[in-house]
Amino acid sequence: MFDLRSTNVLVTGGSKGIGRGIAAVFATAGANVAIAARSAADVDAAVADLDALGTGTVLGVKADVADPVHCASLAATVDEAFGGIDVVCANAGIFPEAPLATMTPAQLSEVLDVNVKGTVFIVQACLDSLIASGRGRVILTSSITGPITGYPGWSHYGASKAAQLGFMRTAAIELAPHAITVNAILPGNIFTEGLAGMGEEYIAGMTRAIPAGVLGKPDDIGHLAAFLATVEAGYITGQAIAVDGGQVLPESPDAVRP
Ligand code: NAP
Repeated sequence: MFDLRSTNVLVTGGSKGIGRGIAAVFATAGANVAIAARSAADVDAAVADLDALGTGTVLGVKADVADPVHCASLAATVDEAFGGIDVVCANAGIFPEAPLATMTPAQLSEVLDVNVKGTVFIVQACLDSLIASGRGRVILTSSITGPITGYPGWSHYGASKAAQLGFMRTAAIELAPHAITVNAILPGNIFTEGLAGMGEEYIAGMTRAIPAGVLGKPDDIGHLAAFLATVEAGYITGQAIAVDGGQVLPESPDAVRP
């Protein structure tokens, strides 16, 4: 059961944070793992670390998911290197703060281009490979922000993360005849490089709001991604699953450790 050896996985945004955690779990399980991000230096550093974890091949590719040409080239590179792609983790995402009153069209476009179009572009680019796999898996990194919760300053981000779920539901129907599943993970507050940039006050406030009392780790997301990638999870599709230490559950702050 749960054998991921000989499984070929692509993780976008795999050089840091949640994507790197997802890549690490797959690499440890013996999968062949390709990671992609815009910074070649970060990709190279992550590949060196991931290489030590498992028995599979680790590959790094510099790519911007907001560019469909990059996505096509990325998918072709990974398919050729591994002899196919079984799993695509569309994880690359950005979350710059922009209050609604002052948000510019450029700020809105940047978030939608990476988080929404980037998701669609990479899935499209990998589609032939996923169909050829016969057991393709698409795993989206969405968020609790947008699909379930809101936070001032991130309305554009919340819209982008909810949009991923709209995409997921129709993609799941379209791809089901090819035995491809499409699911989304909704992380709560996971301690990553990106989240660290939000500052100590934000992190302390978030930690207080989480019934589990701690922020999540990138591996917490990786373990669900690995399960969704297994043959055994093949009957699960079109689902959005929160991994958040219970963060969305309290009716008020008083409900957390009263
Ligand atoms: P992070 O630490 O900032 O890492 C983001 C990763 O994505 C990096 O590898 C980054 O590398 C890559 N990336 C960003 N834009 C890209 C682009 N246009 N093309 C290719 N790669 C790109 O962020 P994170 O916290 O791990 O977040 C990862 C995902 O989880 C995002 O989709 C985010 O919305 C979601 N999420 C995070 C949290 C959290 O608490 N951390 C919660 C909910 C959801 P480059 O900058 O070099 O490209």
